[in-house]
Amino acid sequence: MSLKKMMPDLFKTIAFRLTLWYAGIFSISSCVAFALFYFLATQTLQEQTDRDLLEKARYFATVIAQNGIMGASKLAVIEAQAAGEKRIFFRLLYPSGEVFASSHMSYWKDITIDQGAINTLARTKGHVFTTWLITPNDQKARVLYSFVADNVILQTGVAMDFQSKFISAFKTVFIVSMGFIIIFSAVSGLFLSKKALSGVKAITRTANSITGANLEERVPQTGNQDELDLLAVTFNRMLDRIEALIKSIREMSDNIAHDLKSPLTRIRGFAEIALVNMDEIDTYRGMAANTIEESDRLLDMINTMLVISRAEAGEGQFLYTPVNLSAMVQEAWDLFVPVAEDKQIQFTCEAADHIEIEADAKMLQRALSNLLDNALKYTQNKGRVHVNLQKDSGNGGAQILVTDTGPGIDPKYFEKIFERFYRAESSRTSPGTGLGLSFARTVARQHKGDLVVASQLGKGTVFTMRLPYRNIQII
Ligand code: ADP
Repeated sequence: MSLKKMMPDLFKTIAFRLTLWYAGIFSISSCVAFALFYFLATQTLQEQTDRDLLEKARYFATVIAQNGIMGASKLAVIEAQAAGEKRIFFRLLYPSGEVFASSHMSYWKDITIDQGAINTLARTKGHVFTTWLITPNDQKARVLYSFVADNVILQTGVAMDFQSKFISAFKTVFIVSMGFIIIFSAVSGLFLSKKALSGVKAITRTANSITGANLEERVPQTGNQDELDLLAVTFNRMLDRIEALIKSIREMSDNIAHDLKSPLTRIRGFAEIALVNMDEIDTYRGMAANTIEESDRLLDMINTMLVISRAEAGEGQFLYTPVNLSAMVQEAWDLFVPVAEDKQIQFTCEAADHIEIEADAKMLQRALSNLLDNALKYTQNKGRVHVNLQKDSGNGGAQILVTDTGPGIDPKYFEKIFERFYRAESSRTSPGTGLGLSFARTVARQHKGDLVVASQLGKGTVFTMRLPYRNIQII
């Protein structure tokens, strides 16, 4: 991939955005912490300076009280020399602003008498602080005005060189630390987001490697129960479902192809025979009749498939009218009596009278026929088949039970037999399409009922079609 193509992708990645957020938040909170620390530190330094200046003023007040103005004038010079004339100065002045004594002031000549401060002092009789900037070396000075005797004001100032040194040291520490913090937070943000998103990468990789032919790949699950693990579990479950679905679609299309092939081959065979025996009109008739029969079988199969798939998709077009279920069961039984007689099967019917439901009569008839057809088809000669219509004491509806003494069904196939086109190995020799039970269950479910099976291998089978209360009226 070219660099040009990669760059916009990098900016769009969640990892990149997370790194940016992480670095941003980390740097901003560090800045806030630094600012807070700076504010507190300078505040404390200034308070300390103010306390020192007040201490000096008190000292001057004591000296004036004991030695008078002259003593204070001398003290101003001595104190400034002792501390350093560039560090501190003292001026003694009258409330009018007239200076009458001071320490050596050449370094402090910028600092004049602030008349505003003196006026405030005169009003409050306490002390006033101001801050000056001495221009040549951009140094700050803290200045105190305070009464040291009745008519004497002391103006004393101290260079805030300690604070300036602190600020410049702080600046250096701040720049170096911030540089380090930004790099550190970006690297750790990138590392953390990459680590957090590694699960997503695994899912993407698996999704990419899945093709029509390869559906076995699964995302590795960590078992941590975190969001990504749950996503992996959900994704794997989705793959399981897709795999099962594709498998059943494949099976179904194989079955459809197989089931369509047999009648088509037979139709082709009839046509071939008709071609060979060209002059016999009876042969033509026979061929035409066989072709129609096979075509009907095909059409019937296709229609049944359509009914099932439409109903499953929620588009079933059923026509509900009041249906006398008692009569319908009796008629269906009548219809199959000759088949039962052929196989010498003891075929009995017991239908409770006057059970009427709202139903699609044609669909229900076909579903019932499928159940009876199966029972008679799979029960060996001289067996027994019984059909029974009764009120369902469980849900107050009705139920039709078709019981036979046939080969029975292995419980592991109880669900399979209702799938489209499923036919048990042993049943392949009997005619059928594998759609009968699937159709019957679809019809029952469309009527808000169900079709269930109970069976014992070697003993027989009972199919129960339940039709619930809300579709039922007992006359
Ligand atoms: P078909 O009968 O055309 O094979 P069905 O959908 O009606 O298709 O039935 C599916 C499978 O269920 C049958 O192939 C058969 O193996 C089994 N089956 C259905 N009814 C019975 C029954 N009464 N006794 C035993 N097996 C049955």
